[in-house]
Amino acid sequence: MNKPPSVPEQFDAVVVGAGFAGLYMLYRLRELGLSVRALESAGDVGGTWYWNRYPGARCDIPTTDYAYTFDPDLEKEWTWSEKYATQPEILDYLRLVADRHGLRSDIEFSATVTSARWDEPEERWAITTSSGNEIRCRYYIMATGCLSMPKSSEIEGAGRFRGQVYFTSRWPHEGADLTGQRVAVIGTGSSGIQSIPLIARQASQLTVFQRTANFSIPAHNGAPSADRLEQLSEDRDGYRHAARWSRGGIPTDLTDIFGVTASEEVRRERFEAAWAQGELFGILNIFADQGVNPASNDIVAGMIREKIRSIVQDPVTAEALCPNDHYFGTKRPCLDTGYFETFNLPHVRLVDLRAQPIVSITEDGIETADESFGFDAIVYATGFDAMTGALVAADITGRDDAPLGEKWAAGPSTYLGLMTTGFPNLFMLTAPGSPSVLSNMAVSIEQHVDWVAGCLRDMREAGFETIEPTALGESGWDQHVQDCAAITLYPTANSWYMGANVPGKPRVFLPYIGGVDAYRKACDDVVEQGYLGFRLTGPGQAQCHDGVVRRMQPDVALVLELLATLGLPPMDSLSAADARSLMAATAVNRPPGPEVGEVTDGVIPGAAGDLPYRLYRPAGLPEGPRPLVVYFHGGGWVLGNLDSDDPLCRDLCARSGAVVVSVNYRHAPEDRFPAAALDAFAAVQWVAAHATELGGIPGQLAVAGWSAGANIAAVACQLARDAGGPQISGQLLICPVVDSDLTRPSYEENGDGYILTTALMRWFWDHYADPADRGDPLAAPLRGNLAGLPPACIVTADFDPLRDEGVAYARALEAAGVPVRLTRARGHIHTSLTMVDLVISGAPVRAEIGDTLRAFFPNAVPQEPVS
Ligand SMILES: Cc1cc2nc3c(=O)[nH]c(=O)nc-3n(C[C@H](O)[C@H](O)[C@H](O)COP(=O)(O)OP(=O)(O)OC[C@H]3O[C@@H](n4cnc5c(N)ncnc54)[C@H](O)[C@@H]3O)c2cc1C
Repeated sequence: MNKPPSVPEQFDAVVVGAGFAGLYMLYRLRELGLSVRALESAGDVGGTWYWNRYPGARCDIPTTDYAYTFDPDLEKEWTWSEKYATQPEILDYLRLVADRHGLRSDIEFSATVTSARWDEPEERWAITTSSGNEIRCRYYIMATGCLSMPKSSEIEGAGRFRGQVYFTSRWPHEGADLTGQRVAVIGTGSSGIQSIPLIARQASQLTVFQRTANFSIPAHNGAPSADRLEQLSEDRDGYRHAARWSRGGIPTDLTDIFGVTASEEVRRERFEAAWAQGELFGILNIFADQGVNPASNDIVAGMIREKIRSIVQDPVTAEALCPNDHYFGTKRPCLDTGYFETFNLPHVRLVDLRAQPIVSITEDGIETADESFGFDAIVYATGFDAMTGALVAADITGRDDAPLGEKWAAGPSTYLGLMTTGFPNLFMLTAPGSPSVLSNMAVSIEQHVDWVAGCLRDMREAGFETIEPTALGESGWDQHVQDCAAITLYPTANSWYMGANVPGKPRVFLPYIGGVDAYRKACDDVVEQGYLGFRLTGPGQAQCHDGVVRRMQPDVALVLELLATLGLPPMDSLSAADARSLMAATAVNRPPGPEVGEVTDGVIPGAAGDLPYRLYRPAGLPEGPRPLVVYFHGGGWVLGNLDSDDPLCRDLCARSGAVVVSVNYRHAPEDRFPAAALDAFAAVQWVAAHATELGGIPGQLAVAGWSAGANIAAVACQLARDAGGPQISGQLLICPVVDSDLTRPSYEENGDGYILTTALMRWFWDHYADPADRGDPLAAPLRGNLAGLPPACIVTADFDPLRDEGVAYARALEAAGVPVRLTRARGHIHTSLTMVDLVISGAPVRAEIGDTLRAFFPNAVPQEPVS
């Protein structure tokens, strides 16, 4: 293996790392017939399981699931001795895999990669190792691990201590005898929580220094789960398939029970079952909404805290061990064996660093703000520079001499967590932007390796030699990764998922939280669409199908998936009466929207008879008149009523601080064009004239509407201008119908599959207006005179057939001199914004709408409303 440095060795591919990922990658590359060299800092295979030899080191995903599946014979021959195997057993397993497939011959051990540079003219990577060797390859694959770069100590004086120093992530191979010693453990993450009970058995005194209390549940370790073994023996392939297409990489029946609506009895029963089961994906699946709804999360967190208090005898210690600065699950929860019980031992003490921070490490021990401690040994269980640490440390320089560390200075950017622009032929396994640490990593690693191997095979077959993501593909994926995180509670925590454990590291949510299943589908879709978002080149050819693989907001996609499973008939196949019943039935279980101060129903005179209205008064504001917003619900002039947009009206009221008056109007086909529009104008006139008795401020009136409601709101503005009043301060048009031309591109692009279809729009028009009337500005306000209209806020949604006419109206108003704010609901559908508390990703858009409404009344709202 040792060649003079002047003659670089050449390989088709170099793999860095010989853990779970590197070993399987090597196997697959050799299967493809490529020449491969793997480089590994360690003295043997195993990665995580080579390095982390601390007492109590175990996996926390059941070993029945935390294993390779690519070798069916191995699966049958190997049996795990425990539900959660120990480090030595997992290391033995990985060694066996290496031997069984003869992988060691292609691995250079004790070889740290110190740098890699893309040689543009040669289209090869030039890699340097710690021994000074240079190796060249076409494909450079980082299997360097998510949790392989220990975090360096930030504690003042760390080098001064004269006693023994241990790092859980670099535990001595021969073990450490701590018998009779005074030991400090710094850190209470997974490694700390696993090792503390065992260190306590040896130490004469154990002091645990805790910065953040973490949630942990008992592992209830023992024999592997009989249930899982039975499922595997009955249908191994089916079980593995279910794991690959599950949310977290383990077959799990996801609950549809919401914490906030479940009875106390159901809550308790589900929690106790998960506590007794001792599995991470069990405790994370007590309620469907615990990861997104603070109230639901608090229920689970509260029950765990109860357990901690019931185990730990000293109330002060118990309280310090109760996590209270993050939502449950937003930092990786731990599995333990006797962790909390350990604090009942007389020689074990907890030091809460929030109460008494460490000032420095001294020659003899540790000094906190309040006390000096003497120790014989200090154990650092301080975690890792997760996900990006090992990649950046490997000093990778891409096109134009640009280092990866610089590209990622403000946070990592990847396409599918697999590649990054500017670094051709550089593949990263389980990198930021992939499910990785949020999943059973054995499953995620196999999926990544299979994808890379498939890609290299496809490239070879098509004669391509380089592959690199496009800027568009990558930025689209980055956005999707952040969109997925944004609807959860995860970004609120100071976790290593957010890079928050490493000083100076940018605060970005690193892994992909959309699920192993959704992720696998996205990767497959990219391939199916001809490597969408990648540019491939080869001798005399290039290919680039540029684009973004996921543009829809993740919760909208889930709603659409759920609706698809219900098999509802298309609205446009029903009578108006049946369509109304269906709409009411599907709204039964939706969340109610925010609390407001007061809701009252009443009746006002319309253009031809009484119109019911519902008035929403904001809470938490000083007594006194507020600006008024007259709101019209959506439903294609055919469907809808005061209930249908009730959550949105509450939301508009709470966010804007205005009194919202939602007015119903006559519907088609019973009352066709222009009945709805005339009712709308009549309602605006009446509300303006009765502002004071409604609790409004005379002259401070806006109109608003969604969909067809926005249509009649826009028409009412035109009629008010023509009639010389009433004075309207602004018009809020959410996904408005403003024209009867159904040929704009958005009708084509979004015509089917996003709830409001082109066919349904046609059905609405047919019910509402004769073809001869559809060009009338009272039906199609885009065709009217737009000069002198009130300032407008127009909201359009990407996946809405009405998107383009909304944009056209904004442009036309602008051209007519009307101030316009065009708000794009990115990744949303026509109905998204009305799905308050269901489509959580709509909240920022609704917040923007609230701001716009308030801006319509610059002098009227004396303080921020309560949201
Ligand atoms: C204590 C602990 C427990 C865990 N338990 C679980 C669990 O139960 N379930 C689960 O899914 N995941 C668990 N994980 C995550 C675990 O890291 C992965 O499951 C898996 O082992 C990762 O495999 P890998 O090959 O991607 O990376 P690693 O196993 O980390 O291997 C990466 C290798 O790359 C080498 N390397 C890095 N940089 C260089 C370089 N520049 N030059 C040469 N070599 C380099 C490292 O030495 C290392 O050996 C655990 C992690 C830890 C730390």
